[in-house]
Amino acid sequence: MTSLTVLGSSGGSPTRTNPASGYVLRSGDTTIWMDAGTGTFMALARLTDPGTLSAVVLSHMHVDHCADLFGLYGYLAFGPSGTVPIPVYIPGGSAEHLAAFAGGGAEHVFRVVLDLVEVGAGDEATVGDIRLRFGDANHSVPGLVTRVEASDGALAYSGDTGPGSDLEAIAADADLLLCEASIAGKRDERSYPYHLTAGEAGAVAAAAGARRLVVTHFATGVVPEVAVTEAQAEFDGPVDAAQPGDTFTIGEEQ
Ligand SMILES: [Zn+2]
Ligand SMILES: [Zn+2]
Repeated sequence: MTSLTVLGSSGGSPTRTNPASGYVLRSGDTTIWMDAGTGTFMALARLTDPGTLSAVVLSHMHVDHCADLFGLYGYLAFGPSGTVPIPVYIPGGSAEHLAAFAGGGAEHVFRVVLDLVEVGAGDEATVGDIRLRFGDANHSVPGLVTRVEASDGALAYSGDTGPGSDLEAIAADADLLLCEASIAGKRDERSYPYHLTAGEAGAVAAAAGARRLVVTHFATGVVPEVAVTEAQAEFDGPVDAAQPGDTFTIGEEQ
């Protein structure tokens, strides 16, 4: 069985009760931390020993998706440690960005405990029992949309993206699409081009032939229950709102 557990689903900023974006994927002995938004490291540490992670995937370099990587860095370098280096898949050009914050060059302990792997559209990687495939997001900074293939099913994650990304192709026939729904209501000419409405998330799920949709990345002003209703208007399958602590399963034991 493959599972996705929500660590946080707030867009932009963590709230008192909900960290920013972060998820844990588990399949067999493989555990992947997908997005390390503000507040998610502590939620991760309550679920599993962060030192035993198989890999980390960061969709892009906005702090609500990557800031807590430095929590993992501290844990590995100065805390209980773990099986290092842990691979961290990131969009092209992001390694220098992350390393600059940690300080030091290629020999710095940041680069010793974390193996920064830049990937782009069409790239694939195998992590234990899981196969990853990446596409381009359409965001204000370079970003990834990610397909996760396990032996018992497939899952796709939007990261942050507006319309016009590779998401539909990446999510083709997926058992579960985890998709951002940052914009309340319908798109109009003033809507931000680099995020999706919940209706657009539903339309992507329908066009991709996904079996299930989970909407996430709730920005201020977005009510998750309303986002679910808006997505349901465009998608006939089951729709849920990601909330911290939720676990969604794919595969035969579902
Ligand atoms: Zn975001
Ligand atoms: Zn973003």
